Amino acid sequence: MLELKNINKAFGEKKVIQNLDLTIPDGTILAIVGPSGGGKTTLLRTLAGLETVDSGTFLLDGKAFDPTNTKEQEQVVGVVFQDFQLFPHLSVLENITLAPKMVLKESVQVAEEKAKKLAGQLDIESLLNQYPYQLSGGQKQRLAIARAMAMDPKVLAYDEPTSALDPALRQQVEQLILNLKAQGVTQIVVTHDLTFAETIANQLLKVEPK
Ligand code: ATP
Repeated sequence: MLELKNINKAFGEKKVIQNLDLTIPDGTILAIVGPSGGGKTTLLRTLAGLETVDSGTFLLDGKAFDPTNTKEQEQVVGVVFQDFQLFPHLSVLENITLAPKMVLKESVQVAEEKAKKLAGQLDIESLLNQYPYQLSGGQKQRLAIARAMAMDPKVLAYDEPTSALDPALRQQVEQLILNLKAQGVTQIVVTHDLTFAETIANQLLKVEPK
């Protein structure tokens, strides 16, 4: 279970997150919806440790963790950013294995076996030797998800996973998220798309610009 307790974050005078309490049980899909400027991306960036919070606590199964500590963060929350942030000079396989080797100190063999299994689950196993520029948008997204999952995170978070996709790919992403839910993965989906949120989520957080 992931818990956020009394999280506050301001940029100068602008309070973007105020006294936020959130409890996300295992296997939940939490959709965060709301208009532009409501602080959705900021919340995700704090979970990813890319922004510090001004006050508040993050807990996993009752134990506090620090999202700005790379090792702790990567093992708790895997974030799939809207622009995927893939490593352009690394192959698909290397994109997936880099962090497990560097951060988790997995051996090449262990990291590659896991990467191949994940690539199979996400239907990109035939692309392992390709480079990001050779992939379609949907394939890049699945690579970003495989890369995040390779760190065995307890929670996967996505920023606007469907905004750049056509209806067929959007349905694929929806199915992918539901499949991961069936495997017990807790997921946080930031989206503008209320219909998408209502279709897949079992918990909804509406944020408003302050
Ligand atoms: P969108 O749906 O457009 O992505 P959002 O809900 O994700 O919006 P955020 O990107 O989290 O909103 O931004 C929330 C507010 O915080 C906005 O007013 C934004 O201008 C401000 N903000 C975000 N990042 C910074 C920053 N690094 N410095 C100053 N202000 C910021």
